[in-house]
This record gives sequence, C-alpha cells and structure tokens, in this order.
Amino acid sequence: MKVAVVGGGISGLATAFFLTQRNEHEVTVYEKENCLGGKIRGSEVGGLLVEEGPDAFVTRSPEIFEIIAALGVEDQLIHPLANRALIYRKKALHYLPAGLTLGFPATKEHIFTNKVLTPAERMITYAKWRLANARNQSVDGDDLGNILEHYISRSYTNNVLDPLIGGINAASIHGASAEITAPQILNLLKGLQPVTHMGRPEMQLPPFASFKHGLDFLIRSLNQYLESKGTLVLKDTPVIGLRSTDTGVQVAAHESLESFDKVVLATPSRSAGDLIQSISPESAALLNSIRRASIIMTTVLASGDLSHIDSQVSGVLVPRTEPYFTTAITIGPNKWPTWRSDEGVVLRISSGRLEERAHLALEPETLVHLLMGEVQEVLGSDIKVVDYRVSSWKESFVRFSPYHRQLILKVQNKLAQESDSKIELAGSYLLGSGIPTCVRTAKLAAIKVSGQTI
Ligand SMILES: Cc1cc2nc3c(=O)[nH]c(=O)nc-3n(C[C@H](O)[C@H](O)[C@H](O)COP(=O)(O)OP(=O)(O)OC[C@H]3O[C@@H](n4cnc5c(N)ncnc54)[C@H](O)[C@@H]3O)c2cc1C
Repeated sequence: MKVAVVGGGISGLATAFFLTQRNEHEVTVYEKENCLGGKIRGSEVGGLLVEEGPDAFVTRSPEIFEIIAALGVEDQLIHPLANRALIYRKKALHYLPAGLTLGFPATKEHIFTNKVLTPAERMITYAKWRLANARNQSVDGDDLGNILEHYISRSYTNNVLDPLIGGINAASIHGASAEITAPQILNLLKGLQPVTHMGRPEMQLPPFASFKHGLDFLIRSLNQYLESKGTLVLKDTPVIGLRSTDTGVQVAAHESLESFDKVVLATPSRSAGDLIQSISPESAALLNSIRRASIIMTTVLASGDLSHIDSQVSGVLVPRTEPYFTTAITIGPNKWPTWRSDEGVVLRISSGRLEERAHLALEPETLVHLLMGEVQEVLGSDIKVVDYRVSSWKESFVRFSPYHRQLILKVQNKLAQESDSKIELAGSYLLGSGIPTCVRTAKLAAIKVSGQTI
C-alpha cells in the first residue's frame, strides 16, 4: 500500500516508523520546511546547544520506547538532574510539598505545609477540601477549573494548580478539558491508583527524559532509520491540496501530484483543517475552531550568582495572579549539566498565555530587557545577559476545551465516512500535546491505515 504522511514533526516521523514496522507499505513523508522535527529543534545560545521548544518528555507511555528500542538509542537517554519547581508569589519563592498529584493535595499535611498560600488561605482550603471529601459527591462536566473548585479553594487553584497545569498548556485551568489536561487528578478523585508504570517497566526510568545530544537526536535518528527502510522523506515540500479519487487520494505538493492509497495528516490542526476542507468541510470547520495560544521562549546565557537557588530546583513558576510577563523560568544547569559554560548559565524564560498578546508585539531587545528585570526580581540575583535568543511560538499550544475528546471523535468519524477511511489524523491536538502522546496518536493512525482494529 502507498501511504503519504504529511508533516515531518515527531507525529509524522513516528507515523512513518510504525508504518514501516509492517513491510507491505511504501511510505513518503512530506515536510514543508527544510528541516525535520517541527517544534523539536535546537540552536546555539552563547555557544551552547539549547532546545528552542521541548527539552524533555515524560517516560510514562510505552509507544515512544518502541521507537527508542528499534533505533537502539536507549544508552543515549538522559534525565533531568533536578525535578522540583518553586512558585513565586507575593515577592517570595516557595517550595511545593512532596507527593502532590499534579499539584493536587491528597492529605491534610499537603495543604498545611503549602507555603504558597497564606495561613488564612490554608485554613479556607482545608475547610473546603474536608467538606468536599465528607460529601463525597462528584462534579459533572469536563471543565477542570469547575471540578477543582468543588474540592479546593480558589486561592489554591489560582496560585498552585493554575501555574502548574495551566503552565504546561499556556492557558488557564478554567475552561480546560479535565480529561485531557489532568487525568491524574481525576483518577485521584475517583480513588484510582496513579499510573506508575514507565515506558518499559524493566527500565525503571525517572519521570522525564531527553537525549545526550538534545531532543532532536531522536528526530535525526528516526530520519536515518526511515531512510534505511526505504521511506522517502521529502523536505521543503509543502502539501498544498488533497483530492479524494475512486482508488485513493491525490496529494498535490510543490511541482508534483502523486496518488496514494491512504494519507496521514500529521500537521497542526489548522493545516489539517485546510487540507481536508474540500473532502470533509464539517471536520475542517471543527478543526479550525480549535483555539491555540502563542508563547515566546526566551533563552539567555546569563552571568550572575544563583548559588542561593537549591540545585534540586529545575524551575520557577509564576502564577497569573502576579503582574509579570514571565510565566516560568527554567534554571538550566540544575536541569541539564551541559546548559552551563565558563561565561554563564542558561535560563529559559516562558512568556504568554492564551488570549494574551501584549508580549507578541514587543521587539526582541525590549522583551529581553523587560523579562530580565522580572527574572532578577523573581530569582533575587543581579544577572547580566551574555547572549540571548528569542523563539516565537505563534499559535503553538492547543487549547483543550471541555469535551475536546468528543470534538475529535466527531472529526475522526466524519472524516472516515467522507474520505472512505482514506485519510487519518495524528498530532498534538488529538489526545494531548506531550511528545509521547503525539507518538501514541501516530501509532493509532498507522494501525488504522493498515486496516487493523485497535
Ligand atoms: C515551546 C514549547 C515547549 C514544549 N515543551 C514540551 C515538553 O517539554 N515536553 C513535551 O512532551 N512536549 C512539549 N511541547 C509540545 C511538543 O513539542 C509538541 O506537541 C510536538 O512536538 C508536536 O509534534 P507534531 O509532530 O504533532 O507537530 P509539529 O512539531 O508542529 O510538526 C508538524 C510538522 O508539519 C509540517 N507541516 C505543516 N503543514 C504542512 C504541509 N501543508 N505540508 C507539509 N508539512 C507541513 C510543519 O512544518 C511541521 O514540521 C512543547 C511545545 C512548545 C511549542
């Protein structure tokens, strides 16, 4: 079977990988840019190679480890040295108690030792938490903010849960799908055990991982593997249209028109929506209705004394209740030892959330100046910028609104009906944005293309 995969990010390359596991497919990957990896990319700052987008993935899902094992690169895995986050509130840095589930407390001690909150806020939080536990009533709906506020005070949701969970998604937990953004908390509330298995149980890995030579090592290795299996990987080749025919799908790219039996779209939702517009207008409209947040990742090589920051601290989160552009700061060398040179240390500063646009309008120099003022205040150090890089991630974070999963199921069913199951979808907007989840959508798409049942 001839299969086209549109998009050469992790979702597209992983789809091609799973397709090549069944030797009967002839696979072509189309990537519009001149390099592969999509959001996974690195470049130099102050002579150090530092990721511009993701710098680690969670080790909980098995599918990504199928790829790592087939590539034979397990020995290249590395894990962050530090894994504790601080929260900056009311001009001070605070630790979170150990043992929380995505920030959510399971015991009275979790609430009373949480110094992000004032003593009065801790009392109110405890009273509400206790009452909710005593009532033992579940909450309807899929709005994470609503669900959490049933169990816990607003000061806790705004200052602890929102920076932690909302920070990962660059949007508030209010109006977020609970099923997609915080399934661990839902399980906790239902009294279910947390999922503790790692990618491969025998590996017993720490919760996060990357590769010695950066995350794009996975992309380079996958590309080599795919080429060795005869997959055609076309860079600089945007797909500009799809046409459903009696026997398959015609893929129109720059200066080429090629027929395939099936196509997997592994692009962001907007591009997928545009490509299926004439084949399944309703699915296209649903995909185009998915909102996305824009963030800016500013990376600086900074000189200054950060010795007062505990080496176990990987970063600082800034709640939206604080008047800053900064939403999070990664303390580079505490996380990755290579993020340090004789001249300074790497700090990665995130700014921007859904519907916030002010930071996008700033010139890079102005933004860096402004952010460094905030970082000095938050970290309590006098810091000088040796070098910097500003990476703008426009519309890059999917807003998973309540019942997003149902919206996606509707899109998939409609598209299957209208394309005669010749077009499948993979990517970060289907089940969740983490890299391992993208890989899972890739495997599911490859299974469907191969006509297997899931
Ligand atoms: C700043 C940032 C930090 C992140 N941090 C983490 C993290 O720490 N851990 C984690 O797990 N995840 C993280 N993520 C999320 C993760 O990076 C993404 O969800 C994931 O990389 C998306 O992969 P993808 O292949 O689905 O999409 P993309 O990486 O967007 O790839 C899609 C590809 O399709 C191509 N394309 C689009 N249209 C066409 C077309 N018409 N024809 C041909 N090609 C086309 C694009 O050029 C692109 O290469 C982060 C994301 C960002 C932006």
